[in-house]
Amino acid sequence: MDGRGSIAPAVSSGLMTAKNDARQVDDGTGGADPKYAELRRRLVEVSDIGAASAVLSWDQTTYMPPGGSGARGRQLATLGRLAHERFTDDAIGHLLDDLRPYEESLSPQSDEASLIRVTRRDYEKAVRVPASFVAEDRAHGAASYDAWVAARPANDFRAVQPFLEKTLDLSLQYAGFFPGYAHVADPLIDDSDPGVTAAEVRRVFDELRGHLVPLVRAITGQLVADDACLRQHYPEQAQWAAGVEAIRLFGYDFERGRQDKSAHPYTTRFAHGDVRITTRVNEHDLRECLFATLHEAGHGLYEQGVAPPLDATPLGSGASSGVHESQSRLWENRVGRSRGFWTFFYPRLQSHFPAQLGSVPLDTFYRAINKVERSLIRVEADEVTYNLHIMIRFGLELDLLEGGLAVKDLPEAWNERYRSDLGITPPDDRDGVLQDVHWYTGRIGGLFQGYTLGNILGAQFFDAAVAEQPDIPAQIERGELNSLLTWLQERLYRHGRKLTTPELVEGITGGPLRSEPLVRYLTRKYGELYELG
Ligand code: ZN
Repeated sequence: MDGRGSIAPAVSSGLMTAKNDARQVDDGTGGADPKYAELRRRLVEVSDIGAASAVLSWDQTTYMPPGGSGARGRQLATLGRLAHERFTDDAIGHLLDDLRPYEESLSPQSDEASLIRVTRRDYEKAVRVPASFVAEDRAHGAASYDAWVAARPANDFRAVQPFLEKTLDLSLQYAGFFPGYAHVADPLIDDSDPGVTAAEVRRVFDELRGHLVPLVRAITGQLVADDACLRQHYPEQAQWAAGVEAIRLFGYDFERGRQDKSAHPYTTRFAHGDVRITTRVNEHDLRECLFATLHEAGHGLYEQGVAPPLDATPLGSGASSGVHESQSRLWENRVGRSRGFWTFFYPRLQSHFPAQLGSVPLDTFYRAINKVERSLIRVEADEVTYNLHIMIRFGLELDLLEGGLAVKDLPEAWNERYRSDLGITPPDDRDGVLQDVHWYTGRIGGLFQGYTLGNILGAQFFDAAVAEQPDIPAQIERGELNSLLTWLQERLYRHGRKLTTPELVEGITGGPLRSEPLVRYLTRKYGELYELG
């Protein structure tokens, strides 16, 4: 998920799930503590309101006529307020208190104990933030976004500077509601990656950066790959059909999902039986639709794999932004940009585009989709340089939050980091500090680390899968993706939000977050492609 769709993704919110089938709402509560049944009943109601919001948001980005936007904004605000009120109701707090002995009588891994534990974590975060702050924060976020929409094309950082200064202030105030943190960014990171700290991210990013900067330097010292074959005219309908064929092969279930077009691709979950993805099409570049489709299908596979009994509760979605990105990137890159996958799928792609690709050899195509170059734009970056873009943003966020960098000096600091890390300087702020919407939606901190954590985790999880099932790479070459998907469903997807990122990593890999598998993968793959010796 990139752009605006990535910031408020329904998939990362425990509130955004629903189950409409009333007959199934009480599943899993038979014989349980009646207070547990009452808690669950209330949570399902909150989830239903969240799912209704998600449907309205999906409609807004896919089919709604422009005239609907005013009313839609109000409708979403109403539902958001109702969900927040119901979730922060004192009755939920009392139920959580009363359920402590019941929770302690259960295995911590059980659905029931996990639901109580994770709901308590969400509840305690939600009630610490005063309603007056939430209202001011939301209003500011909307105003700041509008200012950015006008300022970016005008290349006018000064127009958004006062908004960003207030955003920094509100972000620090928000962190202040959670005293006891080790770093001021910790509460912000915890919102999207529970259990992950700034110190941990800094440790693993520094490690990764030490390997990536020289790797990028070595690659970009070589001849740039020729991607002309991808920049021909590719009709939309055939692109759509090729993408759908690829993700059906991945195992994305169209009986429980669908794909539509939107300006910014994203994934949204309404229920276990309804996980939707969107994509976009550029008829002059084959990469845009294809890889957005593979990426969102990865998010979709994760959501479709969450165990059905967790549906419509705070447990019924992916664990965190980092773990979610690990799956979108694993399917998009580790599978979707691998020589093995294209050994199988390239003839199929050629059959969709005989005129464009019929005489282009697999090797040329494979090199083109893995072209590495120093570039200014994060969302267009390749697998190798992408992480440098993220680390620049993460480092600047920490500098701002720690007070070592003033908002007015941000454009120069941004350009300086691009010079030192990527060896290029943005010609203007439009493609510099103004390029990403994230900071302009009303929050600084916690919004970027998930992308690179995702690449790191994706490499760790893929290695763990292959260590247990060494046949997976050969299966991918035969177009058989079922063992990989089943392994991921079993080890990761089915748990939903029951486990935190550190718990999942420990459970799957037997150790902590480590950048070494990603470094090894990138060094081997791109060393071969660019003949780095
Ligand atoms: Zn994504």
